[in-house]
Parts: sequence; C-alpha cells; structure tokens
Amino acid sequence: MGRVFVVELEGRCYRCKHCNCPLALSDDVISRKFNCRKGRAYLFKKVVNVSVGRQEERMMLTGMHTVEDVLCCCCGQLLGWKYVAAQDTDQRYKEGKFVLERWRIADEVSEELHLDGHQILSDGDSGQDV
Ligand SMILES: [Zn+2]
Repeated sequence: MGRVFVVELEGRCYRCKHCNCPLALSDDVISRKFNCRKGRAYLFKKVVNVSVGRQEERMMLTGMHTVEDVLCCCCGQLLGWKYVAAQDTDQRYKEGKFVLERWRIADEVSEELHLDGHQILSDGDSGQDV
C-alpha cells in the first residue's frame, strides 16, 4: 500500500470516528432517514477519503441493489456502503450515492438543524441493510 492522501474538507463535515479522517460535508447529506442494522445511517451525495470493496448484490428493504462496501482509507474501518445500481426505478436516485452508518462517524455539526428546509425524500425512504 502506498501513501494515503487525505483530502481536507472545507466547512462542517463528518469524520471517521476511529481515526478522525474527514469523510463528507454536512452540505452533502441527502437524507438522514436511512437505517442500518445498528440504527441510523445517512445518505451522502459524495464522500472523500474512502475506498470501496467488491460489488455485490444485496437485498434491502427497498429491493435488490448492487452495492459496494465503503471503508475509511486511513484506518480501514467499514463505514457503510455505496449504491451502484438499483433494480427498482423508484430507488434509482440512490445510484452513485453513499450511505455512512451514523454510529461509525462523528460530526462537528449540531444535528437536524439545517436539513429541514430541503427534505427531498418521502417517509417511505429507508435503505435498510438486512
Ligand atoms: Zn478511519
């Protein structure tokens, strides 16, 4: 393995809880309503300083998805997953997006303050990882 280049983020961001590496901007949160086995998870437009695992098919509450595991590139901790493809057209908006499990990331952001203005997703939204 070569040297790891850590991208610094400008602004409020979420960090890896384990190694404090910056991962995603709070502005890039699409939804905070996702769920994973351990509780809450967030959907992000983009994340940095991660590496992805092998593609696999995974059955979620919202149907079959092709996903990749998302790992912290600094410490290797599993952080969540990336949606590569969704079978259901209703779920296609998640393609290319990242889910980070809330308990694995730390934030510098006071929760739930600034997202209310742009909730784009309905209540039926949950990318349950089963
Ligand atoms: Zn880390």
